[in-house]
Amino acid sequence: MLEVEGLTAAYGPVRALDDVTMSIAPGAITAVLGANGAGKTTLLRTLSGLHPAKKGRVRMDGTNITALAADRIARLGMAHVPEGGGVLTELTVEENLRLGALWRKDKRDRAKAFTEVYELFEPLAQRQRKPASTLSGGERQMLAIGRALMGRPRLLLLDEPSLGLAPMITASIMRVLDDLRAQTGLTVLLVEQNARSALSIADRGLVLSLGRVVASDEAKTLAADDQLRHAYLGF
Ligand code: ATP
Repeated sequence: MLEVEGLTAAYGPVRALDDVTMSIAPGAITAVLGANGAGKTTLLRTLSGLHPAKKGRVRMDGTNITALAADRIARLGMAHVPEGGGVLTELTVEENLRLGALWRKDKRDRAKAFTEVYELFEPLAQRQRKPASTLSGGERQMLAIGRALMGRPRLLLLDEPSLGLAPMITASIMRVLDDLRAQTGLTVLLVEQNARSALSIADRGLVLSLGRVVASDEAKTLAADDQLRHAYLGF
């Protein structure tokens, strides 16, 4: 689904991603782990076209997307939920969701997407006409993910969806991701500080340190590696 080769990105003189090579199989959940400043956010931003690659190549389903603008990449089926979600608090739940489907012209298609998102996230269904400012942190994260799903992506990039949420809420969001993958074959790239909860639903994991890949393996194997856990994963 996604092939990344030698991806390098920088902010001026600061090299944030250094020669990252990875591949993601369709329908897999891949966790991207690592400490603060490891380059996780930069990886997502570079994949989705929000930050330019300095070197390297990204291919999605065989198409070279490295130099494409973010909106083109989105139309090819990649959705990016940034850290914090980027929900527009002055708009209602429904208006936020509609933003995620603006480019879908087929009305029936759009109506179906609304139904699906409300089925996945019950609290949103109950608050359709409420301003997003009235939602809890967990509900805002659901709204951010729901808005991304309105565009029916094939690949979903999620930046720290558990940030600031209670463990029970995090667990319910992880469960929804797992169900979605099982039901729709959605492919997920999940950036998390919370390595333990991410590895619990991920098939594979990738550990970054100072912009480089220091480990890449099955989630089970990473979670069982005491040295790696101690050095990079914090659990
Ligand atoms: P966090 O978990 O704190 O979000 P991260 O793993 O997502 O960390 P990045 O945010 O990708 O890491 O940062 C990687 C490196 O790039 C860090 O050294 C960071 O200081 C630097 N960096 C990130 N954003 C910028 C920016 N806008 N300008 C300059 N340097 C930046």
